[in-house]
Formats: sequence, C-alpha cells, structure tokens
Amino acid sequence: MPSPALARVCVVTSLNEVPARTSIGGTLQAVGVVGGGIMGSGIAEVAARHGCDVVVHEVDDAALERSRARITGSLRRAADSGKLTRSEVDAALARLTFSADLTDLAGADVVVEAIVEDEAAKTALFARLGALVAPQTLLASNTSSIPIMKIAAATAHPERVVGVHFFNPVPVLPLVELVPSLLSSPETVSAAERFAVERLGKTTILAKDRAGFVVNALLVPYLLAAVRMVESGFASAGDIDSGMVAGCAHPMGPLRLTDLIGLDTTAAVAQSMYEEFKEPLYAPPPLLMRMVEAGLLGRKSGRGFFEYPPR
Ligand code: NAD
Repeated sequence: MPSPALARVCVVTSLNEVPARTSIGGTLQAVGVVGGGIMGSGIAEVAARHGCDVVVHEVDDAALERSRARITGSLRRAADSGKLTRSEVDAALARLTFSADLTDLAGADVVVEAIVEDEAAKTALFARLGALVAPQTLLASNTSSIPIMKIAAATAHPERVVGVHFFNPVPVLPLVELVPSLLSSPETVSAAERFAVERLGKTTILAKDRAGFVVNALLVPYLLAAVRMVESGFASAGDIDSGMVAGCAHPMGPLRLTDLIGLDTTAAVAQSMYEEFKEPLYAPPPLLMRMVEAGLLGRKSGRGFFEYPPR
C-alpha cells in the first residue's frame, strides 16, 4: 500500500499513461551500496540487519576496511545495548561483502549511491552504473542536495533513478526523503518506497527535486547561522549548543550536529543550495570553508567545532 504522498505522485504522473510492465527493483534482496563512509556504512548496516544481501563498494581496500570497521563497531554497540542479539550481529555481518570492484554490483536489485557530495563524481558514477546494472535495477542516490535530475541525466535510463535520502545516524533515525526527478517513473518511486518502508522499516516523506529537499532546506540555514555566530564572536560554540539543547530541547546543538554531519558535507550541501537559489543565507561562511581546508571535518576527523577522542 503506497503512502498517501506516494499515491499522489502516482496519480499525477500516470493520468495519461499505462503503467510500464517492468519490475523495477525486483525483490529488493540484493543491495549494492557505493561509498562506505558515514552514510554508506549506515545504509549497508541497516540493509544487512533487515535481511538484504549487501555489497559495499569503495575506492580502495583501505576505505573498505574503514567501512567494515565502522559497521562492525556499530553492530557490536547495538548488541552491547541489547538492541540486537549476538546471533543477529553475526547474521548481519555474514550478509555483507566488501569490494573495490564496481562490477560486483552488476547483479544488484537496488544500488544506493552514498559517495562524496560532488556533482561531477556522482554523475560519473551513475554513467558507469547505468551501463553496468540490469535494466530493472533501481538506482538511488543518497545525495543531500544535488538535484536528482542532474544525476539521472547521466544515465541512459533516467526513469529508474530516484533520490532516497537517509538521515545520520542511519541505524537510529527513521526518516527517508523520497525525491523523484521529473523523469522518475511511478514504478521507480513505488520500488523506492517499498525498499525504504517494507525492506528497511523506515518512514518516508516525499520531497520535490530542489536542492536541499525538505529537511536540509530548513536545517542548513540554521546550522550556517550558528557557524556565523561563532565566526563573528557573538557567542562560543559551547554556549550556542548549550542554548539550543537546554533552551529548545534539541537533542544536540547546531555545531555538534554540523560536526556529526561532517563540515565538508555541510559546506558542499550549502554550496549546492546556494547555487540553486542564490540566497545569501545558504552561502557557506568563510569559517566553515577554512575549517574544511584545514581538515577539521568534525567527528569523522576527530576535530571540528568540538574534539572527539578516538573510540
Ligand atoms: P563520507 O565522506 O563519510 O563518505 C563518502 C565516501 O565515499 C568515502 O568513504 C569515499 O572514499 C567514498 N567515495 C568517494 N568517491 C567514490 C567512488 N567514486 N566510488 C566509491 N566510493 C567513493 O560522506 P557521507 O557523510 O557518508 O556522505 C555521503 C553522501 O550522503 C553525500 O552525498 C552526503 O551529502 C549524503 N548525506 C550525508 C549525511 C550526513 O549527515 N553526513 C546525511 C544524509 C546524506
């Protein structure tokens, strides 16, 4: 049963056409994840926990090892806190394969792309994926802000490309934004919804294909405003975050959240939203750019607005 939001899309896009008799996504059992960083590792972990056979693809063996360690550590913490049994952890790990060879994703029912937030890198990857996978494979991008149409246009079959935007940390946060492009077919959007809801147990909302979609369009200006407050000396990072936690009941302040997202990713998302709308409030502040250039990327590098000792 599609969500009401999805039903709206199907109705609007299918008024004058007979639905295609393809089975986009097939059984959604075999999942390829491209990019094993913060998000790709989280998506792979959740898919394996929900019984999918997952291949994680990264640029090299060192990156694959980091992804394996990230997923293993996360699964062990879930077991330590009683959310998973030891045998569930072992079963999830047994469903995961790590490969530096993209062709190992050729048999996937669905491929989720979670590489760096860089339009050129994503379009180059989708051009390769489009030529590699089967005609019924669902091609999903976890981009935070790059319009899906730009990514889909790099493939010969843009109708089976859709935005499937997870939230960090993926094993914890239930939301997935579904982002159809102008050319995504109703079958593709329906398969993406089935993947997120039935396969992975997520909650979906439908977003228009505009840089930032729904959540980042609201969140990013807030994060950037906090960075500008630090930059101008208006308040310290600690006081800004304490203010939003103790005063507004946020689970974490904006600067710790920026550290969690990654300063490089936050800057890239802000940049693509600025390019789309030309609104100054989306422009990445100079302090954010200097910190990225300094390698102060937040939690993943050990230091951003706050420091994170290795676990
Ligand atoms: P990250 O920097 O942690 O990981 C990116 C990974 O992609 C790296 O491990 C890198 O080696 C790999 N990679 C780069 N090019 C590749 C290629 N051609 N093939 C295979 N792997 C490649 O970044 P992240 O935070 O995981 O973000 C990934 C995507 O998810 C971005 O599009 C980002 O906007 C989006 N996203 C991020 C968050 C967040 O909070 N960090 C939330 C939602 C969506």
